[in-house]
Amino acid sequence: MDSIFILKKTTVQFVSTRISGINFCVAMIFDSSLEIKGFIPNTMIDWEGMIASTIFLPGCNFRCPFCHNRELVLLPDTLPTVPPDMLEDFFIERKGWIDGVCVTGGEPCFQPGIEKLLEWIKDLGLKVKLDTNGSFPDVLRSLIDQGLLDFIAMDLKAPFDAARYRIASGNRDSDLVERIQRSIDILRSSGLPHEFRTTVVPMIHSPEDIESIAKSIEGDEDYVLQRFSPKTTIDPRYSKLEPYREEDLKRALERAKKYVKRVRIRGAPMPVNSP
Ligand code: SF4
Repeated sequence: MDSIFILKKTTVQFVSTRISGINFCVAMIFDSSLEIKGFIPNTMIDWEGMIASTIFLPGCNFRCPFCHNRELVLLPDTLPTVPPDMLEDFFIERKGWIDGVCVTGGEPCFQPGIEKLLEWIKDLGLKVKLDTNGSFPDVLRSLIDQGLLDFIAMDLKAPFDAARYRIASGNRDSDLVERIQRSIDILRSSGLPHEFRTTVVPMIHSPEDIESIAKSIEGDEDYVLQRFSPKTTIDPRYSKLEPYREEDLKRALERAKKYVKRVRIRGAPMPVNSP
């Protein structure tokens, strides 16, 4: 919920501080079906080591019960659309100040207009980081082959078992695990910087599960364990769930380190005695 709130706030702030510059008819560049539903002008946490902006695309083929981008996934029409020409003005004005753009969602590869959006970002001279759930390997392959990506962060929702993945993702596609595996192979053979990551959620993951996921990317460079923070989740039961304690996460991290070189915990811990 917080992230959506920030989106609304920053979008309004961005619009009100817009400096009129060169005005291209960029609406024509995008696929007409693609709408940007959130924009963070400056972030140093969404892409490590980079000063970036973040673009949020609506819709997702997953229904992870713990997802806190509920509105973006389920109710995108209730969110304001960020006009593309305003984004273009912003990026031209800030040229040299911003290294790249994080494209996130929702699931960006779910959007038919993703390719044109990324081409537009690259034409502006900016790098692109893609956040993905990994369920569209063909799209991923095509974007990589076209040189449209500079960094990829891919979620691993559960150990590679069809039933477990179905519970964690809310997606019932019979070939889902096979597609996730294909995306992993594509990333690992791409030569592009990337990270795999899992939001560690009680009721979904045990420390053994984290070890099993890490084993499936054995030899990889980077695996991030993200702290689950209960907010307004897709399944309301998860909004009341207490996250794992620090020592539990560290125990999971130690198990994962047997297989992946660098394992990190990301996200602020919940304050003690927080409601
Ligand atoms: S957490 Fe799951 S439902 Fe939410 S945007 Fe990511 S993949 Fe989609």
